[in-house]
Amino acid sequence: MLKTRFAPSLTGYLHLGHVLHMLYVWGIARAQGGKVISRIEDHDLSRNRPEYEPAILTDMQWLGFVPDLGISATDAPKPSPYRQSDCAPRYEEALRFLAEKGLVYGCECSRKEILAKQPEGREEPCYPGTCAKKNLSLEGHTVRVRVPAGEVAFRDLARGECHQTPAIQCGDFSLRDRNGQWAYQFCCVCDDIHHGVNLVVRGEDILSSTARQIQLFLALEHEPPNYFHHGLLCDADGQKLSKRQRSESITQLCEDGVSAEEIIGRAAFAGGLVSESVPMSAESISENVAVLLRSTPRTLSHSVEQRL
Ligand SMILES: [Zn+2]
Repeated sequence: MLKTRFAPSLTGYLHLGHVLHMLYVWGIARAQGGKVISRIEDHDLSRNRPEYEPAILTDMQWLGFVPDLGISATDAPKPSPYRQSDCAPRYEEALRFLAEKGLVYGCECSRKEILAKQPEGREEPCYPGTCAKKNLSLEGHTVRVRVPAGEVAFRDLARGECHQTPAIQCGDFSLRDRNGQWAYQFCCVCDDIHHGVNLVVRGEDILSSTARQIQLFLALEHEPPNYFHHGLLCDADGQKLSKRQRSESITQLCEDGVSAEEIIGRAAFAGGLVSESVPMSAESISENVAVLLRSTPRTLSHSVEQRL
C-alpha cells in the first residue's frame, strides 16, 4: 500500500504553497488508494515554535485535508511518534547503528573554516573531509556521515531519470550539530523508515538533496522510497512564492472571510493544476490531481542505483 506524508515544520503558518503541496500529497494518495501520514517536523528546536502546531492542524482540517495516520487537529497527543521533537531516541538509535558500521565521525570545524575552503562562487559548501580521520568523539562535535563517492541515479516519478553526486555536491554532511540539534535530512529519513513511507512528495526546490537522502536510506540498510517532485507556486513575476513576499497565510485568509474552497481553487490555479481559479473542495481537486497523475506508475517498483 502506498504511504506518503505531509510534514510541516513549525516555523510559520500554512500559506498557498502548502495548499498546492497538500493537493499533490492527498491527490496522489487518493489516486493510488494510499494513505497520508501527518508528521510535525520540529526537530530544530531553535527555529520551531510549538504554538504554530495547533494553528497548522486547524487550518488543515478547515481546508478539508484529513490525514489517515499521525497528528491531526482531533488527535495530537504529547508525546507522539509523529512529532520529531518527541522522537530523539529514534534518531539516537539510528546514529548508533551508523556508528557501529564506522559510517559517522566527529567534526570540530566551524562553519567559517569550512566556508574558507570553498572555491569562489560555490553555491552550496562542500565539506572537504578535514576531520574524517581524526577519530574525534561524536559527543560535543558535529556528527558527519561518510558519503560514498560516485553518482546516485534514481527515477523521480514526475521528472524521470535524475543523477546526483552528493560527494561532490555537499561531501560528508551533518546529522547532528555540536549542540545536539538533529539535521533535517537525518530526521526525515529515520521517520520515513519508521512510518513505512514509500512515496515522498516534495517541491522541486529541494530536488538537489534527494540523492543524499537515498544514501542515508542505504546506509541504514533500508530500501529508499519513491520520490515525486512537483513545481512550486510562483508570483506574477515568476518568483517562488514565499512567506517574505506574500504574507497571506491561510489563517489570515480565513479570518478575512475567504472560503476554504476559494483558497484551494486559487492554489490549484496558481500551481497549474486547473485552467481557471474557481472554488473547489479538497476532495474534488484530489480527483482532478488523480486524473493528472494517471500516467504515474501504479506499481511502486523503484529504481535507485548507486554507481561507484
Ligand atoms: Zn571537520
